[in-house]
Amino acid sequence: MKELIVISGKGGTGKTSVLSCFAALAENPVLADCDVDASDLHLILSPEVIHSHDFSGGNRAEILPEKCTACGTCHELCRFDAVQHRKTAHGKSIFAIDPIACEGCGVCAHFCPAQAVSFKPAVNGQWFISKTRFGPMVHARLGVAEENSGKLVSLVRQQAKKIAQDQGRELILVDGPPGMGCPVIASISGASLVLAVTEPTLSGLHDLERVIELTRHFDIPLMVSVNKWDINPSIAGRIEEQVSRAGAAVASRIPYDPAVTRAQIQMQAVVEHADTPAAQHIRKLWKEVLISLSKNNS
Ligand code: SF4
Ligand code: SF4
Repeated sequence: MKELIVISGKGGTGKTSVLSCFAALAENPVLADCDVDASDLHLILSPEVIHSHDFSGGNRAEILPEKCTACGTCHELCRFDAVQHRKTAHGKSIFAIDPIACEGCGVCAHFCPAQAVSFKPAVNGQWFISKTRFGPMVHARLGVAEENSGKLVSLVRQQAKKIAQDQGRELILVDGPPGMGCPVIASISGASLVLAVTEPTLSGLHDLERVIELTRHFDIPLMVSVNKWDINPSIAGRIEEQVSRAGAAVASRIPYDPAVTRAQIQMQAVVEHADTPAAQHIRKLWKEVLISLSKNNS
């Protein structure tokens, strides 16, 4: 079984547009959307949710007012300033935990002398198994201001692998998270191939440097595609030099093509929509990706 992860270093480079085309071109893939903070693959694939599950990434502390003796220990010990203290009009101290500031470390629950802190698994989001026109899809939604997206990304990948094994599907296509933080690391470790979709801007150039370092660190083969390369051919050239110095391959240059936006408006991948220049280059890129996947035995 092979697992291709498409990442971008930053949002807005066209990563999801490319991945949705791969979903349309692949044979029997399992799809996974690991952009759990702000997923958008569903906007193109219109998944029909078959199973929905709560996700708990950790515990949440809550003070039980009926047990609290207002000793203030939790307020003193919380390193995240998550325990708020106020006084009533009658001078009585009230302690309460700010759920957004709480990091779920459990110190307050451990040291509370009155066992007045409830410390139970929190529901931080949901994950789903859905049906799409291209195959099963695992996706998720992390709650607002919730943490642990790396854990949720790992869960989405595990579930996609399980479906692939159970249904005898040989390819998992993963829409990775944007940026370079913990969720990206969780999405690429152990993958067969990473495709970085970048754009010809200075931030695209800078982010690609970090993508190269990350994939080198995890020893994962890397391919690069420069999307909308013709909006700045000079930086596109610098990106290609950078990739070549790193020993990776620039697999394609995709031209700017308004048909990509028109396809998105119609909830389609551009390769489904029309045989435009971007669609033609993405088809060629897909062939390159398949060749690279076939050479890679992991
Ligand atoms: S440590 Fe326990 S008893 Fe003391 S203020 Fe906090 S919750 Fe209340
Ligand atoms: S669980 Fe940790 S972070 Fe949350 S309120 Fe208690 S001590 Fe602070």
